Amino acid sequence: MTLIGLDDSDSRERGMCTTYLAVRVAEAVRAAGGTVERLVLVRLNPAVEHKTRGNAALCVHTDLAVDEALSIARKAVDALAAIDDPRTNPGVVVAPGETTSEPVVAFSRRAVREHLALADAEARIDAAGYRHAEWGNARGLIGALAAVGAWQSFDDPTYEHISYREADRRGTPREVDFDSLVAAADWGYPDAWDTVDHGESAMVCVPHAPGPILHGVRGDDPGVVRAVAERIESEPVERAALFVTNQGTDAHLRDGTIEASEDGRSYRLDGRVSGSPETRQGGHVFFELDDEGATMACAAFEPTKRFRDRVRALRVGDELTVCGEVSEGTLKLEKFAVRDLVTTEPVVPTCPDCGRSMESAGRGQGYRCRRCETSAPGKVEQPIERDLEEGWYEVPPCARRHIAKPLVRGGFDAPIHPEH
Ligand code: ATP
Repeated sequence: MTLIGLDDSDSRERGMCTTYLAVRVAEAVRAAGGTVERLVLVRLNPAVEHKTRGNAALCVHTDLAVDEALSIARKAVDALAAIDDPRTNPGVVVAPGETTSEPVVAFSRRAVREHLALADAEARIDAAGYRHAEWGNARGLIGALAAVGAWQSFDDPTYEHISYREADRRGTPREVDFDSLVAAADWGYPDAWDTVDHGESAMVCVPHAPGPILHGVRGDDPGVVRAVAERIESEPVERAALFVTNQGTDAHLRDGTIEASEDGRSYRLDGRVSGSPETRQGGHVFFELDDEGATMACAAFEPTKRFRDRVRALRVGDELTVCGEVSEGTLKLEKFAVRDLVTTEPVVPTCPDCGRSMESAGRGQGYRCRRCETSAPGKVEQPIERDLEEGWYEVPPCARRHIAKPLVRGGFDAPIHPEH
């Protein structure tokens, strides 16, 4: 087995895509007499600021000799990558062997959750004796090495069937039939997820950015994602490929505490709502979470649409687990679990005789009814209607991060309220 890791071939303007580069490398491998075992698409730390879009890196698993594999990858990058863009810094790492060494698998796991240095990647590539090629500032080597170790680091593999556009149509509006897409998505759900967003009537599997992808159908079952893609009526598909991925797995999240959390990482954090949700300019909703005196601002941004109603329904005192990336001290919510809801609130007591609100009898002296002379020692607890239940709530499919796990996939520690 030879593993060809690829990354950073894309530019925002030119609209390439490293998945397409991997497909072209796989074709060249086959043309050279090799076989392709699988294509791996790994989503690395979504907080990395150099990313073009989704921080994807790719690996082609083949049986071709290392030298030949490197030469094919090098040619493909030269031909297809946007290397004239100074922000595009491709890297290729070619590793021999059936399995990658544990330090490389560990590097891969860390690349999903942390910020890694190029020097660290280069040292590991040298230590493992891997061949490599790089362009520009060589930053792509980080993702390329992470891609090499990715498949063995996946605890919960998922699939994406990507269909590509014909070259002369790229950059023009995509022609995809909405009704057939919705029917295909419903047919494949829940084995295929995040294909459409019913609430927003959005074709989630069809990207907006320029580039070669027509649509990418994601799910748990390789047969189902392919069948869904085949049911979608659209402009001609130039080529298509199946990828094994860590998308939809929450692989980026680590269990943490508010106090110890750091920017540029993604967490599961427990706490109590300590500041009421507030909608700010632009429609973004913020609230404060507290854990034994350490506080964290949590945000549901405007693009998370109806999820913001869930967040607005929170009240001070609710116990939560929140998930998302911490950036500038604010956690960008991807999902949250209600662990305990406040169900009563203290109110001024009413008079048992006349039914009117009592009045304060003075500081610390309780309440009394002037007319009836009844009294009460303090406020009384009154039940409140809540629009939330215990369990997990999530952003809708239209706002999902590639790596975030949709609730419908299951395996959560409380009841789920999936968005569809
Ligand atoms: P593309 O389609 O080109 O892959 P992308 O959105 O996936 O687009 P890249 O252009 O690959 O983003 O940019 C990400 C860059 O960040 C790459 O150079 C990659 O090596 C690097 N990188 C990825 N993960 C990490 C990490 N955890 N720490 C540091 N650098 C990283």
